[in-house]
Amino acid sequence: MAGGLMVALDMDSADEAVALAGDIGERVAALKVGSQLFSRHGPEVVRRVREAGGDVFLDLKYHDIPNTVNRAVRNAVDLGVSWLTIHASGGRAMVEAAKEAAGEARVLAVTVLTSLTGTDLAELGCGGQVRDQVIRLARLARDSGADGIVCSPLEVADLRSALDSDCVLVTPGIRPAGAAADDQARTATPAGAVRAGADCIVVGRPIVNAENRRLMVDSILEEMRTSLLNT
Ligand code: C5P
Repeated sequence: MAGGLMVALDMDSADEAVALAGDIGERVAALKVGSQLFSRHGPEVVRRVREAGGDVFLDLKYHDIPNTVNRAVRNAVDLGVSWLTIHASGGRAMVEAAKEAAGEARVLAVTVLTSLTGTDLAELGCGGQVRDQVIRLARLARDSGADGIVCSPLEVADLRSALDSDCVLVTPGIRPAGAAADDQARTATPAGAVRAGADCIVVGRPIVNAENRRLMVDSILEEMRTSLLNT
């Protein structure tokens, strides 16, 4: 588990996503199908990515009443996904309902979206520091059965010490040295995230937009391996 690379297949073309899955699927921990690809191609693209040779991480961030999330997770599991996301702010019963339906698939909880600031939280009626809210929601999700937490690289160290060591921490917002930040405000390198305690990192555009995607995957994996050896 430690040092896993998850690749976000954030694109509109199912054929392109499936081709990339076939190219890199065996080297990586999971291929992430998010709302962009899923909203265009639906469950069929999940099946195709899986058949192309990779474990699928379905990142639809479910947030609904417990019964609806339970049914949605059941259907996702029937598609053969290995990982899926829910919002921790759906509350204890919702997280438990997701976990109850997940079987072997791992349930990851999103706490506070990394796009939200303290001002946004106050506007939502949640006063206090973003960091405190992240830790509160992460503990609640873990206590309710979530297998792991999705968090920013800057939250990993705090969560590592706030949660048990078996809790899987997955961090997006990763940029290899020299890569464009795009719209990610708070980033870390693959090595930095692993050193901070991330079990898996999620990388999208630095791979999707690379001239040679497979080479970029290999160089990120190498950076993660080296950083694990040096910790
Ligand atoms: O292209 P990039 O590497 O920024 O992609 C990051 C992926 O992780 C995207 O699919 C994005 O939706 C997802 N993500 C994120 N920040 C979060 C949760 C998920 O960037 N807090």
